[in-house]
Amino acid sequence: MMWFSRMKQTLPLLTISFNSKSYSSYLGKFKSPQGYETGLTIYNSAAHKKVPFILKNKGIITWYMCGPTVYAESHIGHACCYVKFDILRRIMENVFGLNVLLLMGITDIDDKIIKKSIESNLSISEISRMFEFDFFKDMAAMRLIEKDFAYVTEKGNVYFKVTKGMSADILSEISEDNETIIDPLKKDKRDFVLWKVAKENEPFWASPWCHGRPGWHIECSVLASKIFGFHLDVHSGGYDLLFPHHSNEKSQSEAYHSCSQWGNYWLHAGLLQVGDDIKMSKSIENTISIKEFLRENSVNDFRIFCLQSPYRKNMLYCSETLARAKDMHRKFHNFINELELYSNGELVSPQIDEDKLLSKLRSTEEQVISLFADDFNTGQALLCLTDLIDVVNENLQSTIETVTFKDGITAISACSNYIDKTLEVLGIKIICKKKINRDFYI
Ligand SMILES: [Zn+2]
Repeated sequence: MMWFSRMKQTLPLLTISFNSKSYSSYLGKFKSPQGYETGLTIYNSAAHKKVPFILKNKGIITWYMCGPTVYAESHIGHACCYVKFDILRRIMENVFGLNVLLLMGITDIDDKIIKKSIESNLSISEISRMFEFDFFKDMAAMRLIEKDFAYVTEKGNVYFKVTKGMSADILSEISEDNETIIDPLKKDKRDFVLWKVAKENEPFWASPWCHGRPGWHIECSVLASKIFGFHLDVHSGGYDLLFPHHSNEKSQSEAYHSCSQWGNYWLHAGLLQVGDDIKMSKSIENTISIKEFLRENSVNDFRIFCLQSPYRKNMLYCSETLARAKDMHRKFHNFINELELYSNGELVSPQIDEDKLLSKLRSTEEQVISLFADDFNTGQALLCLTDLIDVVNENLQSTIETVTFKDGITAISACSNYIDKTLEVLGIKIICKKKINRDFYI
């Protein structure tokens, strides 16, 4: 995995209504790519449905993820987005054996960061480390001007010409009321900025047009193109980035590379909400920092909270949903710790119907793989694991003894081991004090 620049490693909540807003054509029309099957079906926001996941290069995924804007302490709303995508990556790698090349960009120069920098008296030189990278952004804007997809205004701002570089499908979605930057020098109200003039006291870089800095959308396009060239299998981010960020990224990248589909699969994670339609956000000041969360809860609790609902859906953060995650964590923890006592000989293994339990284990394994393959249905997969735990526990409590029953150590250890390994694949490490270290190194 690749982390770019000052990547902040975020740590690793349930479902309420799916984003009711229709994202009809913000990403244009999807054409199924030519290439190699993976056995996975994923929801592609560009297709508005689940589609087979096909890769250009056999077994290799090029994936760009929009990262956070780093101007304040990370909160659990951010963490939930990155943990969800970390779970998807783990499943792709460890269950489906795919080679994931994941690149994440951190927005470290924009209006909010500059404001913070001025407020906190941080040296601009901290920010100027981006100089070399910004050179590439200059070049991107330059090339778009050369190809007539962008223009420079008298003041030195550079705008992307939406009527030329944006597909008719996307353009028809954007109303002129969506104008984010009001500038009478824009040719079309919907044109978005590629390079903007620096205001007084703001950091700036020299460019052929003015002392300024790059627009937000171009950072991601440039970074992804610099590393992966014109081809990108997956592009991901939170649902709040779909428009205008992803529409603009896609349009400018397709204009830059002269290609018809930059980014084949667009994956969007649901947002963390604290009430009906209220998202957790720095701008609304209703956040809970990761540090605060971890004072009373564990990293595993958080990850299970994320796993319990479909990654695409918004999740409601409240005492009930959190309690449900904590209960499940406790169940896994207790089971693995108790079963270890049988595996290491501290408890005598009971007489059980081993064939029946092994067959339950096999059917669970098959179900879990098919649930993961179906747009990463981790919520149902976890329920398959807890169902297996219930069956093992029933067997352990059973007092029936017949001659056909055998010493059940193999079957119960296999079930415990399977649950432990599957949780590990998803990033959950269960602490087991009694565990004997079974690793051997020469
Ligand atoms: Zn982005």
